[in-house]
Amino acid sequence: MSRTITAKFGGTSLADASQIRKVAEIIKSNPERRYVVASAPGKRFSADIKVTDLLYSCYSEFAKGDEYSGTLAKIKARYAEIVSELGIKFDVGAEIEAIENELRYYPPADYLASRGEYLNSKIIAEFLGWEFVDAAEVIFFDENGNFDGEQTFMTMSARLRDIPNAVIPGFYGSMPRGVIKTFSRGGSDVTGSIVARATQSDIYENWTDVSGMLSADPRIVDRPRTIAHITYTELRELSYMGASVLHEDAVFPVRKAGIPINIRNTNSPDDPGTLIAASIPADIKRSPVTGIAGRKGFTSIRVEKSQMNGETGFGARLLYIFARNGVPFEHCPTGIDTISVVVNSSAFDSKREEILREIKNELSPDFITIEKNLAAIAVVGEGMVSARGTAAKVFGALAGAGVNIRMIDQGSDELNIIIGVDDSDYETSIKALYSAMIQQQ
Ligand code: ASP
Repeated sequence: MSRTITAKFGGTSLADASQIRKVAEIIKSNPERRYVVASAPGKRFSADIKVTDLLYSCYSEFAKGDEYSGTLAKIKARYAEIVSELGIKFDVGAEIEAIENELRYYPPADYLASRGEYLNSKIIAEFLGWEFVDAAEVIFFDENGNFDGEQTFMTMSARLRDIPNAVIPGFYGSMPRGVIKTFSRGGSDVTGSIVARATQSDIYENWTDVSGMLSADPRIVDRPRTIAHITYTELRELSYMGASVLHEDAVFPVRKAGIPINIRNTNSPDDPGTLIAASIPADIKRSPVTGIAGRKGFTSIRVEKSQMNGETGFGARLLYIFARNGVPFEHCPTGIDTISVVVNSSAFDSKREEILREIKNELSPDFITIEKNLAAIAVVGEGMVSARGTAAKVFGALAGAGVNIRMIDQGSDELNIIIGVDDSDYETSIKALYSAMIQQQ
């Protein structure tokens, strides 16, 4: 039986006619690519404006009662240029008119924002000679705006079952009574994942403008290696710490169905990219560390109390004080008589006085020490569990770079080591860790 691929193309891959031609070539080069999910036209050059951003500006002008026709004309011009350069028959004027008519009913901003992918997908479907399936008819949100997986998968799989090839716009779906609702920004990745699952695709290809996920931040490390294989769990750890390649919610639908994601580069289609899967085949050799990522801007609140260890519920009560004040904790390393709560400084700063007061009143600690300007770095890799000496190498690399380690937290799944360093040591640490744990492997 032949395989099925769902291929999602991002905004830069579809920014103009020449990019769309590249995409069409990629699609046509493999007949297994049966379902295509398209973003709105993105930036053609760095100072350019994404169509989605133009649509949001247009909506805010409209909502304020300002003149919005100039912005709408810019949007129209982007599509008119694409259509004329592709040489297809497509009435952009009529489409824009239909959108303007709809504005008379005061739709939500999501409606206008969604028109970027709607129009682009219709144009691409026309260019490919494929069927266009509107996301509003196959992706559903409930009354409260939460994604309704059950209704979506039932409807979408039934609808696409008999369609050999279709283009589906990314980013949006509909609420009861047909009101358009979008996912959060970058949400076409989520649509792609939903389509891959509903069509029982063998693979979800996510085509973008980089050749995969990098093993470290390229703004800090010079030309870091691309990650060839990564598990969903590792991806989640690295994305949480700031390495972004996909919308966070895009992993869930395909992960449930065991469908791997392949990140590919439209501008370099022969590159294999990054393969994200539940597990990595045994014959693939990987180094113990898959990637390194981190973030600045944490604060650690260290609470000391002699014989804390014998006091039942101390940790729970401490964490509850943060929860009650709406400050989520990121890490919580403990010692015998100490416990530290590491939080995002931006969430903590405005609640600082209340939280400290409550800790003093409710827990009567001996000392509270606050350390600001912490950066957290995650060294992530499933191979670390079985590789001896990984921790020693990590700490050795930092010592060699003259970095003072201010916190250590090993995740309970032994998938990562989190290290807290001073914000000012962040870049040095990432460089040293990359060189020792990835480059020299
Ligand atoms: N066009 C939308 C955005 O710019 C969604 C997407 O491209 O994924 O956020």
